[in-house]
Amino acid sequence: MKILLIEDEAKLGQFLCDGLAEAGHVCDHFADGSKGLEAAMTTDFDLIILDLMLPNMNGFEILTNLRQFRNQTPVLVLSALSDTEKVIQALDLGAIDYMRKPFDFDEMLARIRTIQRRSLNQPGYLLNVGDLQVNLLSREVIRNGQKVNLSNREFALLEFLLTHANQVVTKTQILEKIWDINFDPGSNIVEVHMYQLRKKIDKDAEEPLIQTVIGRGYILKGDVIKS
Ligand code: CA
Repeated sequence: MKILLIEDEAKLGQFLCDGLAEAGHVCDHFADGSKGLEAAMTTDFDLIILDLMLPNMNGFEILTNLRQFRNQTPVLVLSALSDTEKVIQALDLGAIDYMRKPFDFDEMLARIRTIQRRSLNQPGYLLNVGDLQVNLLSREVIRNGQKVNLSNREFALLEFLLTHANQVVTKTQILEKIWDINFDPGSNIVEVHMYQLRKKIDKDAEEPLIQTVIGRGYILKGDVIKS
C-alpha cells in the first residue's frame, strides 16, 4: 500500500517508514501537520497514519479537513494521547483505527492488513487473470501453476496494473503511486522494474499479459476476476 505518515518525532517517523518499506509498503513521511494534509489532498494514498500532536495543524484538524473535503482515505491514528475521550473524538471524526503509543510494530502491521482487507472488499483479495493468480494479502503470485517471486516494487507494479486492467497507465501515474514523492521523474526506474516484472510474469507465457503502448505507457489486458 502507498502510505502517508504524518508524524513529527523524527526518529519514530524514520523507524516506521523503514519498517513499512520492509513490509512491502511505500511510505511518504511528513513531520508538519499542514504539509501532511496538503499531501493527503493532492496525492492518492491507500492509508494515512496520523499522529495527533503535530506542528502547524493537529491531527483532529487534519481529520476534520479530510472529512470536509470528502477524502475517503482510511486513517489510522497513532498517538500518545491515551484518554478514551480523545480516542472517541478521533474515531468520530472519521479515523478507522486508533493505536496508543508506545505501540508494537507487528500489531500495527496486522491492523494495516485488516484495513487493507476491508478496503479490498473482502474476500476480493484474490485476483485471477488468465493463468495468473495474485493474493493481495499474502502477496503470493502464481503464473501457470508456478510460484513467482517478486520484489516489493515489482509486486506493487503488478497490483497497480491489475487494478487498472485494460487501461493504459502512464509512467507518471506509476511513479506517483509506487515511488515516493522525492523520486526523480526523469529516471528510468519504472522501465527497469517493468522489464524485471515482465521477465518474471510473462517469460514462458504463450500470451503476455503486460504490453507496452508505445509513447503512452503500459497495459495489462485480460478479465480480472476477484474472489
Ligand atoms: Ca507528535
